[in-house]
Amino acid sequence: MWQTNAVALRAGTGRSAAGTARCSRTVEAMLVDSPYFPDELEALPGLLAGAGFEPDALLATHADFDHLLGRLAFPGLALGLGEPSVQRVHQEPGAAQRALRAQDDELYVERPAPLGLGQVQTLPVPGSVELGTEELELHPADGHTSDGLAVMARWCGVLCAGDYLSGVEIPMISPGGSFADYRATLARLVPLVEAADTIVPGHGAPHRRDDALRVLDEDLHYLDALERGEEKPALPKGRDTVEQRRIHSENLERLG
Ligand SMILES: [Zn+2]
Repeated sequence: MWQTNAVALRAGTGRSAAGTARCSRTVEAMLVDSPYFPDELEALPGLLAGAGFEPDALLATHADFDHLLGRLAFPGLALGLGEPSVQRVHQEPGAAQRALRAQDDELYVERPAPLGLGQVQTLPVPGSVELGTEELELHPADGHTSDGLAVMARWCGVLCAGDYLSGVEIPMISPGGSFADYRATLARLVPLVEAADTIVPGHGAPHRRDDALRVLDEDLHYLDALERGEEKPALPKGRDTVEQRRIHSENLERLG
């Protein structure tokens, strides 16, 4: 019904052969973004534990409601948000909760508990966070919304792109987003994609590097057509749907 990705990342713990922990407070596994449906959220901790991932921190690429649900699966964990996302949450109190309720109503989804953001940890963007013995790079990725970051796990070749580079969704300029910032983000993503093996967009299947570069190129062409104000541009293969045409008219309105 809806393709949404959550990514669990982990790194070495820095334990020596004798088994002593280098630093007991180091975050060792991180969940980036979240699934949406209650049964997915309920299954997630067990599923990840079975694969050896026990997240001790959460991170959301941006403050859209569908990326903020990690605490519904891991209620005890703090949610890491980039500084611009924290600002956005403060500027629009309750907006994520309202948007989640609207989406739930539309899809007849019932939840055992409402969404609370709980303890929020503000992260500098650009910046980095330690994960075990490794480092997660946080790169600015605004334009889709006023906030946003991309997470680069360079040691394992994974780039979590947030709501960019989707194979199922055209570039979406949401309220608060900006066309120029969107373009700047795509330019910033190029060297990251080139250095990654697996690129995970917020929605749609993960890409290998070449596919992500193709999507990025298609997105640039789409933005050109949007800038020209084309009402019926050619949309990329696999993304020419009624829903994407609707997103395109919203983009046109926003561009004015
Ligand atoms: Zn999203």
